[in-house]
Amino acid sequence: MLARNIYNEEHEMFKQTVREIVAKEIVPYNAQWEKDKMVSRESWLKMGEAGLLCMQVPEEYGGLGIKDFKYNAIISEEIALSGCAGPAISYPLHSDIVCPYILDFGTEVLKQKYLPKMVTGEYIAAVAMTEPGAGSDLQSMRTTAVDMGDHYLVNGSKTFITNGYLCDIAVVAVKTNPSLGAKGISLLVMESSAAGFTKGKPFEKAGLHAQDTCELFFENVKVPKENLIGEEGKGFVYLMTELAQERLVVGLGAIAAAECAFAHTVQYTKDRVAFGKPISELQNTRFKLAELATKISVGRTYADRCVELHCDKKLDGAGASAAKYYLSELQCEVADECVQLHGGYGYIWEYQVARSWADARVQRIYAGTNEIMKELIARNVLK
Ligand SMILES: Cc1cc2nc3c(=O)[nH]c(=O)nc-3n(C[C@H](O)[C@H](O)[C@H](O)COP(=O)(O)OP(=O)(O)OC[C@H]3O[C@@H](n4cnc5c(N)ncnc54)[C@H](O)[C@@H]3O)c2cc1C
Repeated sequence: MLARNIYNEEHEMFKQTVREIVAKEIVPYNAQWEKDKMVSRESWLKMGEAGLLCMQVPEEYGGLGIKDFKYNAIISEEIALSGCAGPAISYPLHSDIVCPYILDFGTEVLKQKYLPKMVTGEYIAAVAMTEPGAGSDLQSMRTTAVDMGDHYLVNGSKTFITNGYLCDIAVVAVKTNPSLGAKGISLLVMESSAAGFTKGKPFEKAGLHAQDTCELFFENVKVPKENLIGEEGKGFVYLMTELAQERLVVGLGAIAAAECAFAHTVQYTKDRVAFGKPISELQNTRFKLAELATKISVGRTYADRCVELHCDKKLDGAGASAAKYYLSELQCEVADECVQLHGGYGYIWEYQVARSWADARVQRIYAGTNEIMKELIARNVLK
């Protein structure tokens, strides 16, 4: 299959370091985190200590100031490759999806207030857009923020929020002017310790068990005016700007998770004997492995190209949507075929492919469903 060539020697060294940290600080704990329905707070601090959270944050706010997105991509990739799907979404969501809202559009006050603790892992961050009645149709959200002079008064609720149960802060999409549709949407940084901010219990999900997804409720929550991100009414524009990176990050996790399931399956087919020989010698197994290896290689090549384009600030929305759509569909196809090649063992939780299969499914739903991705791609095709 095609050799990868997007990483230089320094990237490769960093990759090795991340791999060792993942093996030591994530893999041994993942089964317990699956039972707890969340990664531990301690692990957030360890990731922060290792410098693996919000690496792009400038030194003045406690970060490493690494502007090369390939380093962020390596972190996503390595955690997903380990098969620990919960942490593979928790940390990148914090670093690559929430952090940019504050870093790119936040005031100096907001940066100083929140970035240093996001870098150390003392603050865990979430982004809250979806509501019980508004998912794909984000503009119909009902959470409001009323200008009370020196603060906003927020009422409403959000659902399916990743890192929701543990979050200390959340970037929350609110309507500051409900009559204006998308132009009435703003983003606020809300602290979960504020009076009137409550959390539901982590959902019992079909997969991603080591990941706290829950509802958030806001009842007359006072949010200081200084916690507005950028300008009032520009929230939708900011969301659209940052969603390209969010979709790329989901795509990167998807292709690495597919590689993980595939590697486990190749080994399994060599070890499992049926009719007196390893199942890797059966033609169907060989053809399936060949098909999957080819598809994964094509997907990996596209993912790497997207990373390069993103580093050059040339990845457009349609390209990122295509990455999210194509790679998450591929991840699901690979996981399903890998379960089949494992026979009954593929359905048993202690086998990696059973987890890979259950964890994969949601990737086609969140960060914009794949139907919405296709709509965005079609708009680009037909423009
Ligand atoms: C585990 C998990 C974690 C999540 N994390 C977060 C998070 O951190 N923050 C957050 O804000 N949200 C999060 N979400 C929410 C997720 O982004 C939404 O579930 C998703 O956007 C879909 O919205 P919905 O569930 O309301 O489905 P709906 O929008 O009701 O969609 C239902 C079906 O209709 C289809 N559909 C809807 N509109 C169209 C259209 N215009 N054209 C074609 N088909 C359409 C959809 O594709 C889907 O198949 C998470 C969800 C899950 C399950």
